[in-house]
Amino acid sequence: MSIAANIETIRQNLPASVKLVAVSKQASVAQMREAYAVGIRDFGESRIQDTQTKQQELTDLPDLCWHLIGHLQGNKVRKALELFDWIHSVDSLRLLQQIDRVATELDISPNICLQVKILPDPDKYGWTIPELFTDLPAINQCQQLNIVGLMAIPPLGLTSIQTTQLFEQARDLCHQINQQPASSLQLSELSMGMSGDYLPAIAAGATMIRPGSIIFRDA
Ligand SMILES: *Cc1c(COP(=O)(O)O)cnc(C)c1O
Repeated sequence: MSIAANIETIRQNLPASVKLVAVSKQASVAQMREAYAVGIRDFGESRIQDTQTKQQELTDLPDLCWHLIGHLQGNKVRKALELFDWIHSVDSLRLLQQIDRVATELDISPNICLQVKILPDPDKYGWTIPELFTDLPAINQCQQLNIVGLMAIPPLGLTSIQTTQLFEQARDLCHQINQQPASSLQLSELSMGMSGDYLPAIAAGATMIRPGSIIFRDA
């Protein structure tokens, strides 16, 4: 299957309100150009260095929107803010506060999603639900940032029913946060759904899906 055909397959299941972020972390710039040719503008990357190289090779495509989806180290915050329009993978209060400080210096307001661990997962970064509620007052203080949503990634090995439940819990968590009287956060974005689970993610209310291999692998 071609990249264009792979994207078409996803689009057939994509409500108009859901953004398709093509995760290109394992794709070449030639493959990214193929995706661009059929209308993809949002690309997800997990590494600073790779993204910088790709951006240098794609300067003729001016209207790209770059999404960071991988863990960000504190010493790379400045670089990340130069390269990315969105950071989906903000996974601790300390990192969020660092981003807030640097964004203030740069006078920019990047779009931020908070990465949550709905289920315990030793392999992943992110806030557990209780940690997120504990940190809400401090999160609210990061006023330079456009904190717009949550990102959720299911642990490996869930059944499809458990996966659906996890996505629904992420959606409900968003609503709960929006109703906290002590918080002014209004989260409208749910970044969830990868190659293997984007359909249940959409069904549960994802507003951004992040498939990668299903677009670029074997293409
Ligand atoms: C790699 C990655 C994806 C894409 O995964 P696929 O299984 O290739 O679709 C999406 N989100 C995150 C956070 C990732 O690290």
